[in-house]
Amino acid sequence: MEYRRLGRSGLKVSALSFGSWVTYSNQLDTKLARECMAAARDAGVNFFDNAETYAAGASETIMGAALRELGWAREHYVVSSKFFWGLSDDPNGKNTLNRKYLLGAIDGSLKRFGLDYIDLIYCHRPDPNTPVEETVWAMHDIINRGKALYWGTSEWSADEIRAAWEIAERHHLHKPVMEQPQYNLFVRKRVEQEYRRLYEDLGLGLTTWSPLASGLLSGKYVDGIPAGSRGTLKGYEWLQERLRDEPRNAAVRKLLPLAQEVGCSLSQLAIAWCLRNRNVSSVITGASRPAQVVENMKALEVAPRLTPELVDRLQAACEGAVN
Ligand code: NDP
Repeated sequence: MEYRRLGRSGLKVSALSFGSWVTYSNQLDTKLARECMAAARDAGVNFFDNAETYAAGASETIMGAALRELGWAREHYVVSSKFFWGLSDDPNGKNTLNRKYLLGAIDGSLKRFGLDYIDLIYCHRPDPNTPVEETVWAMHDIINRGKALYWGTSEWSADEIRAAWEIAERHHLHKPVMEQPQYNLFVRKRVEQEYRRLYEDLGLGLTTWSPLASGLLSGKYVDGIPAGSRGTLKGYEWLQERLRDEPRNAAVRKLLPLAQEVGCSLSQLAIAWCLRNRNVSSVITGASRPAQVVENMKALEVAPRLTPELVDRLQAACEGAVN
């Protein structure tokens, strides 16, 4: 495994990490989650991503139970959570980054995980109804109270990230060190264009999500939605249209021979493409079974085989399906 600095912080995260969105509770019980995490750990993964909202808190409970069963020493792994949507209907408890919500949300997460602290906490989306200064102070206070180590954002605009960073700088508060955007062969603009100046100016690190565009880039959706896939899950019907997207599946058909040429699976090729971007601290992978984890982790061996010429061909194959 390769370990990369989380932006300008001193924390090292595995270049490939493992997250629990959709899968934990819906597809993976504690036993299967534990097996997936063990497979990831065998490949050197030290970072496991989660969020308060995933399976309405059950994802954190399952990950916490799996960690206890695995018995790893606390200093050897990094876990995250994210806050914004909340778990209640209270006007101060949902779709917010206000101080009251955040200071309560961290305690809820710690309890579900059964941990004393969470390594990385994210503001899961921006909140236009809370002054960013209030959010920055709340995240700082959570860290100062020893409940988290680093904080960051997810799907914030470059301007929003810079504003938060500057407030923290002005008041000598803990600064946001990482952002969590979507990044894959179809979704590139934010990471490659919008955030471009933040890497140098602020030392922003990235932990990126959906490297396979929810599985589309594994190639399994080229002939429709197969049984047993994410596209068939109850509650995720909204994903079906995206997984059937024809420009994207047409691109996948063009990528297949390129994977054969490299001698790897399409999933490995797509994940390796994310890894080659050095502004990415960690590519957060997802899997509904241990065999997928084993396959996906081998993307690390594929990444050095992606020559600039091949990268150009990969990206050309996706033209017309990128946003
Ligand atoms: P991917 O785009 O990689 O999709 C993962 C899914 O694709 C798996 O659950 C599985 O679904 C399928 N898959 C994975 N590997 C293979 C394979 N080798 N062959 C065939 N199918 C495969 O990642 P996710 O969308 O799961 O996102 C990864 C993580 O990113 C999440 O767990 C979460 O931690 C984070 N995330 C963060 C967000 C944010 O807003 N900050 C938003 C979304 C995700 P199946 O087998 O069921 O078809």
